[in-house]
Amino acid sequence: AQKRYADLRELPAEDRSGRVIRLMMNAGLMADLPSLTGSGADGVGLFRTELQFLIRSRVPRRAELAALYKRVMDAAGEKRVQFRTLDIGSDKVLPYMKPQDEPNPAMGWRAIRVGLDKPGVLRMQLQALVRAAEGRPLSVMFPFIATPEEFYTARESLLHEVEREASMGRPVPADLKIGAMLETPSLAFAPDSFFETCDFISIGGNDLKQFFFAADRENERVRRRYDTLDTSFLTFIEKIVARCAAHDTQLSFCGEDAGRPVEALTFAALGLKTLSMRPASIGPVKHLIRRANLAELREVILAERSAGAQSVRPAVMHYLAGL
Ligand code: PEP
Ligand code: MG
Repeated sequence: AQKRYADLRELPAEDRSGRVIRLMMNAGLMADLPSLTGSGADGVGLFRTELQFLIRSRVPRRAELAALYKRVMDAAGEKRVQFRTLDIGSDKVLPYMKPQDEPNPAMGWRAIRVGLDKPGVLRMQLQALVRAAEGRPLSVMFPFIATPEEFYTARESLLHEVEREASMGRPVPADLKIGAMLETPSLAFAPDSFFETCDFISIGGNDLKQFFFAADRENERVRRRYDTLDTSFLTFIEKIVARCAAHDTQLSFCGEDAGRPVEALTFAALGLKTLSMRPASIGPVKHLIRRANLAELREVILAERSAGAQSVRPAVMHYLAGL
């Protein structure tokens, strides 16, 4: 199987009708970057920056971060890297941060909420990203955005850093794209103006699913209780696809489900054009997409929903068995 996937490396994730899905990879450490060529990924759809903060005993300095981000961009070359700003709190606790005694950390003071309330570290990180770009294209996304206001404030902060660099005569990113992670159901219902302002949206499916079903992703008893191919969840995903399409907002999906071939294929059938996953999943996902006809599969899914199915998994598996 490994050989078969290696043979696919240079080929597009194109279905039988010619539709091409962009497959990107998730990363978080410099050591992940060689996988960019090894896996045939189109770029890094999610670079989790918190890992650099988690492996140290103190807050990294701006120069250290800038050097690291520059190495990441150098290694990626022409391929795009979507950097996600610090996502701490909940399951990711920094050793040097005062532990928060929260009854429900997943819904607590985490991710962009920390970044907006205590902007020092976020600002420093944004400066490091802008400097690291050295005039090259730059994509930055903010985690756990629940309302447009949170996104606008974070976005302004990044634009402010870009202006500051310019005023000091330093190069500014050639093509700056600012995005939001859609991880709370609320954001899917934001006003149109949000989708117009946002350059790109990435669905953080791990968190989105946990909040959609109110099932803790860290709790073994409930984390697998609800199927990602549940009709209600997929209807919600379709709604996000439609809202982004209406405003030409680029959309991707970067939760773990994007790396599960059956789930990935289903998302693609429902209109997701970009999926970001762990590098090892790229081959298997590409293999399956190339065997399928996404429009046909979409019909199967819609018929199953009309018939009142709770999950479309049996129907998708049946479709796959017939290929
Ligand atoms: C997600 O929530 O799906 C996601 C990609 O972010 P993380 O797993 O780091 O919370
Ligand atoms: Mg998340």
